[in-house]
Amino acid sequence: MYIDCTDKELFILKKIAHAAEELGVPCYLIGGFVRDKILKRPTKDIDIVCVGDGIALAEKAAQKFNSRPEVHFFRNFGTAQIKFEDIEIEFVGARKESYSFDSRKPAVESGTLEDDQNRRDFTINALAISLNKPDYGTLIDPFDGIADLGRQIIQTPLAPAQTFSDDPLRMMRAIRFANQLGFSIEQKTWEAIAESAKRISIVSGERIADELNKILLSKKPSVGFDLLYKSGLLQIIFPQMVELAGAEYIDGKGHKDNFYHTLQVIDNISEHTNDLWLRWAAVLHDIGKPATKRFEEGHGWTFHGHEVVGGRMVPKLFAKLKLPQNEKMKFVRKLVELHLRPISLTKENITDSAIRRLLFDAGEDFEALMTLCEADITSKNKQKVKRYLENFEMVRRRCTEVEEKDHLRNWQPPVSGELIMETFQLPPCKTVGDIKNAIREAILDGIIPNEFDAAHAFMMEKAKELGIG
Ligand code: ATP
Repeated sequence: MYIDCTDKELFILKKIAHAAEELGVPCYLIGGFVRDKILKRPTKDIDIVCVGDGIALAEKAAQKFNSRPEVHFFRNFGTAQIKFEDIEIEFVGARKESYSFDSRKPAVESGTLEDDQNRRDFTINALAISLNKPDYGTLIDPFDGIADLGRQIIQTPLAPAQTFSDDPLRMMRAIRFANQLGFSIEQKTWEAIAESAKRISIVSGERIADELNKILLSKKPSVGFDLLYKSGLLQIIFPQMVELAGAEYIDGKGHKDNFYHTLQVIDNISEHTNDLWLRWAAVLHDIGKPATKRFEEGHGWTFHGHEVVGGRMVPKLFAKLKLPQNEKMKFVRKLVELHLRPISLTKENITDSAIRRLLFDAGEDFEALMTLCEADITSKNKQKVKRYLENFEMVRRRCTEVEEKDHLRNWQPPVSGELIMETFQLPPCKTVGDIKNAIREAILDGIIPNEFDAAHAFMMEKAKELGIG
């Protein structure tokens, strides 16, 4: 089987083949590397399986490189990794796995190449290519994965129900690969996913998050999310998102289906950014809608305050989904909370002060916020879309003008808390905060410019008012 390798990859494979020959262990390229080469997709990691000790092979191979890469190994799993420049090479000894229904951990014993291919998740991931002298380059494809690559189909090598019961994460992987590669899931494999969906609950949150992030980073994430929904997996791993689905009608008045609206927003934003967290902001922007939904006589459906409620939900959801509790989470929360603000600035007679407040609140995330707002336009009416986009263009223009004048985007108070304490001989106390806030409000309202002298004069006046000047 000819696969189009770079010189660097061929160099690496030759070293590994020599090492395996010296140890007398047959070894093979396997998994994602083979699949992606055949599909002519960019590859990163190289997976090697050998019929013998994978760690010993990694150590032998490492000695063949002048750079003597470090060998990282996991004795329990019988796997080892070395890194050569930007390529990670993973070694594993061929193995046989047997699972019992109530345990996540398989009993593992060494096995043949065939055993190892049997434990792989999908036919397209079970393709192996020999690196051994007698048949170097020969494809070993017991499940006709090549045909599935051609037909663009995801299916399991063995009975799907068993494969998914053994490791339920494979259900999410099937959907992730279908999404990333633009493939379909074979009927029986799909039915087994829908039947086994509940078993996803035994998988660790971290592994689930990993797959969810990969789905979200694919070109058209809506495909993956929709499959998660239709299979019943989303109901278990992320029920709050499912709550968005469907539309209710009262007196013939309905509202849009916020689940499919959200999917559209995710796809829209994915055309403009590869930033995982900005994409998460799209996933969560309307997450507060189910909790705030009301039917108001004469008005129809409303979701007042959904941005505030949604923002408040973000930390808990991130914790549940095993996403980081750090700056990334704060960024997503901020965007969810602010996602309606630019819309409110598209009306006429918007004051500079309102613009200043948005710049101040969004800070360095202003561009990300505008990208989210633009992605949030999902109307099918082209005229409307054009008008909304022009409105946002105008908001951007006004923000640029005000920013040039007032520099509020990464605002630092022109008069510091220390200076206030020093000037009025105050210890750290509420009064210091009150003066600082008053200065900030005066700047945002345009009463004084964003400059030291003006702020200092304002501070003196404010202090007099408070009876401390
Ligand atoms: P990507 O790098 O995009 O995640 P990949 O196919 O290389 O794709 P890895 O997670 O690196 O995925 O796994 C490498 C190979 O190991 C897979 O191609 C597959 O053969 C096997 N594999 C990985 N995870 C599982 C699993 N949960 N069950 C069975 N086989 C698996």
